[in-house]
Amino acid sequence: MHNVVIIGSGCAGNTAAIYAARANLKPLVAGGLEPGGQLSLTTLVENFPGFPEGIDGPLLVENMKKQAENFGAEYRHGSVIAADLSKRPFRINIDGDWVETRTLIVASGASARWVGLENEQKLIGHGVSSCATCDGFFYRGKKIMVVGGGDSAMEEAIFLTRFGSEVALVHRRDEFRASKIMLDRARANEKIKFITNTVVEDIFDVKQGVVTGVRLKNLTTGEVTDREVDGFFAAIGHIPNTKVFKGQIDLDPDGYIVGKGGARTSVEGVFHAGDVEDRTYRQAITASGAGCKAAIEVERFLEHEGH
Ligand code: NAP
Repeated sequence: MHNVVIIGSGCAGNTAAIYAARANLKPLVAGGLEPGGQLSLTTLVENFPGFPEGIDGPLLVENMKKQAENFGAEYRHGSVIAADLSKRPFRINIDGDWVETRTLIVASGASARWVGLENEQKLIGHGVSSCATCDGFFYRGKKIMVVGGGDSAMEEAIFLTRFGSEVALVHRRDEFRASKIMLDRARANEKIKFITNTVVEDIFDVKQGVVTGVRLKNLTTGEVTDREVDGFFAAIGHIPNTKVFKGQIDLDPDGYIVGKGGARTSVEGVFHAGDVEDRTYRQAITASGAGCKAAIEVERFLEHEGH
């Protein structure tokens, strides 16, 4: 019987693990589909306090994990494939193994959203990617396309100019969700070509088993054009990883956990931390802060119950 199981090993899960471990709760952390969370897919993090020169995202989360392990947190590879939160102790299935726990912290984050084209799915890993950091290297001197109008799209486009001969940034509107600083940076980069009011209608070429181009449609003029592309990066946001909790914890229509004050969820003893609930800030530092809050609430909850 565990005191607390933490689902997810991004900033939220790792910080919750540090606090819970230091409170002697011996947390079990289920690493999840994307160990290290979103930071493991990024490059330099310049806005996490304490690192004046910035720090590599993967190094930052790895350091958090080591810090938690130093205090006795146990990490297990694998994802949560089922959960029974109908009564306590809660039962959580990590890749086929059921574990029991008095409390649960859901810090499972949110995964990349795809444009939703049939050929996009078929070409993932063959020119279609959602992670510039992971795959940018493969497109040295090649033609790259990024889809999206938020900070992720700007960040990925800027990063990909290190590799590509050109980076086309396709966005369905001519207004951007991206912050002004990121947008200005992308606009100032002469390798980035903005293509606005435009959607991607198809990706080629499944027959060749590799991305060779895309079909674009200008939403203002209705004009359809084909464009040669070697690397296609979707940077259009994320979907919360809450599928196994559907019908068990209150979720909003997009699948984000509905917070009930502090780190509480609709189920007593189940707490949330990070992007799985936060669709507003979604920063490494806010996720870490949320992990801290969740662990402190777990500690008080267990203490109140006399554990
Ligand atoms: P986001 O802000 O939600 O932006 C998603 C973008 O994708 C929007 O421009 C949206 O278009 C577009 N989009 C969504 N679905 C689409 C579809 N099916 N087809 C085409 N376009 C689609 O997501 P994000 O950029 O991932 O950012 C998420 C959060 O993380 C934000 O709060 C952001 O500030 C933060 N972030 C910060 C940094 C940084 O500071 N360095 C870096 C990355 C992310 P519409 O605008 O038309 O809806």
